[in-house]
Amino acid sequence: MRSDPVLSVRGLRVGFDGVDVVRGVSFDVLPGEVLALVGESGAGKSLTARALLGMVPRGASVEGEVLLNGAPVTPADWGRRIALVPQDSLSALSPVHPVGEQLSLALRSVQGLSRREARRRAEAALEAVGIPAAKSRCHPHEFSGGMRQRAVLAMALVNEPELVVADEPTTALDPETQEKVLGLLRERCSATSASLVLVTHDIEVVRAHAGRMAVVYAGLLAEYGPVERVLTRPLAPYTAGLLASLPAVDGTPRTRLPALPGRPPAPGEPPTGCAFAPRCPHAVDHCRTRAPEPRPVDGREVACHLATVPETVNPRCPTSATWSYGREAACRPTVPETV
Ligand code: SF4
Repeated sequence: MRSDPVLSVRGLRVGFDGVDVVRGVSFDVLPGEVLALVGESGAGKSLTARALLGMVPRGASVEGEVLLNGAPVTPADWGRRIALVPQDSLSALSPVHPVGEQLSLALRSVQGLSRREARRRAEAALEAVGIPAAKSRCHPHEFSGGMRQRAVLAMALVNEPELVVADEPTTALDPETQEKVLGLLRERCSATSASLVLVTHDIEVVRAHAGRMAVVYAGLLAEYGPVERVLTRPLAPYTAGLLASLPAVDGTPRTRLPALPGRPPAPGEPPTGCAFAPRCPHAVDHCRTRAPEPRPVDGREVACHLATVPETVNPRCPTSATWSYGREAACRPTVPETV
């Protein structure tokens, strides 16, 4: 039986001066799951994630519903029931206070613990991410980048939030440290039963760490569903394009690498109809006049007029069961009658 979501987002819009950058995004995060928000730079994934915590830039307008275990998220929940792991660890930690003291303060302000108990719990939280208690008196600049990011994980999880939002949490780290920090993030979320929203542009991070994924394009969800299903058989041409630009599974570059052509539309200038139509090799006339709504197809939500259950796409063309993005489009899916 499906559990109630920890986080439920409906019709989220974030804009500046009347121009929406996030244009109506809806998704759920289930208990204990890792949901990845994926997309190119500027797609709106980070802004979506930060809107969950009310951490949008000054002057931004936010509309829509964000429910944490059924109740609207309020500022009192930030850092307590829902916590952020940012990309830049220096922005999350005060440069003038020892790291252990910062964790103690977070514990005392949220849970009202005594100084002594807060210090004990802060040291335990640091040890849980591999930072010895003796280092709790160090300032952030005395840590390496990887150690600082582990301290940020400890800070985000110290009050055992129900949901952690990690916004490109390892982009500034080298690949080996990235993998260790991501593993640790998942382990600590699992140990505290926290769900995780992981913002990333890295499909390999999604493959290794997420259970479901939401692909964001031009401020909307293009495809949203289980990682294995989406990555092995993408139905939105945008998802297929992202995957086609990756190296082959064995690490060798693909021949005739089909780079994703063109650029996303500028905020405030999405084309009429499907925002991906100018870059989409499958676009038909209808795509340029009517925007596709997300709808269930083959176990995930897809915002594409032409997406159909693969087996029923075109029985005369076996390869049409998956999109052949960037290749000969000889086996285009049959346009459904509803189009
Ligand atoms: S709706 Fe049309 S243009 Fe948009 S992704 Fe689907 S096929 Fe391409």
